[in-house]
Amino acid sequence: MTRIDDLPIRDELRGKSPYGAPQLDVPVRLNTNENPYPLPEALVERITERVAHAARGLNRYPDRDALELRTALAEYLTRTTGHRTETAGVWAANGSNEILQQLLQAFGGPGRLALGFEPSYSMHALIARGTGTDWLAGPRGADFTIDVDAARALIAEQAPDVVFVCSPNNPTGTAVAAETVLALHDAAQRAALDRGRRGALVVIDEAYGEFSHRPSLLPLIDGRPNLVLSRTMSKAFGAAGLRLGYLAADPAVVDAVQLVRLPYHLSSVTQATALAALEHTDTLLGYVEQLKSERDRIVAELRAIGCEVTDSDANFVQFGRFDPDAPDSTLPLTANAVWQALLEHGVLVRDNGVPGRLRVTAGTPAENDAFLDAVRAVMKENK
Ligand code: PMP
Repeated sequence: MTRIDDLPIRDELRGKSPYGAPQLDVPVRLNTNENPYPLPEALVERITERVAHAARGLNRYPDRDALELRTALAEYLTRTTGHRTETAGVWAANGSNEILQQLLQAFGGPGRLALGFEPSYSMHALIARGTGTDWLAGPRGADFTIDVDAARALIAEQAPDVVFVCSPNNPTGTAVAAETVLALHDAAQRAALDRGRRGALVVIDEAYGEFSHRPSLLPLIDGRPNLVLSRTMSKAFGAAGLRLGYLAADPAVVDAVQLVRLPYHLSSVTQATALAALEHTDTLLGYVEQLKSERDRIVAELRAIGCEVTDSDANFVQFGRFDPDAPDSTLPLTANAVWQALLEHGVLVRDNGVPGRLRVTAGTPAENDAFLDAVRAVMKENK
């Protein structure tokens, strides 16, 4: 049998495993930050209509520039954030992962450095690797926020070409203050200009933006051509299977990613489906409100049980602390042992490898009850 390492694969990919959470068949799956609500029936019907229309033209390539869709996304951003957004400043792709990949293809690459603050979304580092961009893992504080002074010093020393700021951050749920983003942005520009470069790209990954207690960071892009906001329809729109991500930035950034995007990357079927979903924004944002209050309930109940819980602005919650060697540990177990014990109770959560912590996605009220019951049962079994 041929193994990957027998192939003439790039050296940096040797011995590596692909990204992915275990897809186990368990009654309660709260491990991948999906929206638990299926799309409403009226929307499913609208998708069927729009896709049927698109199907009649599938002999042709799709609208390469996805103009109708980008216009609808711009309207969505304008309406929900209050920040006037133009079509020319919006770009769409197959999931925000593809958006991030296109950004690194255009602004990263061999000989360039990308910086993120870990623990964070691990695909940032993996997309960097896939695009030949060097990766630097910057630190977070004990409360998982970004220490502005430490971050500034690191940026001044390393002068990254690309800086990722994930807000709300996956897997911790932590939102980043606008002042922090601006401080990192300014430090990154200064460090780059000092070295004779034209600046550095700062990418705000706001995949979970709609779930935040705080307003979107979108208005920060005004007058800052090197600041980009990345969003997705996978979470708030409950459409992870659709694969639709987008960015908002200065139109010049949109022109730049067009240099690396594959022609016709966004199928007519995808464009039609996303347009249908955007017509039902208000219903879908109603589910977001329910999920936000469930998220707040999970935080409160886990704290009442005695867990250490990180404040969350996302549709998931980081909880712990599990360390058999720490006297103040919630349970005398490792995070992975707690993950396993919850699985035995039929609940799948995520072990992201953050020491002593696990992450649970907010599901339906019944799923969240099942999760909280399972935590209580595991606590009782291990008292
Ligand atoms: N950014 C963050 C922070 C995420 O957690 C995810 C999905 N887990 C993504 C981007 C990518 O999502 P998608 O490609 O589905 O838009």
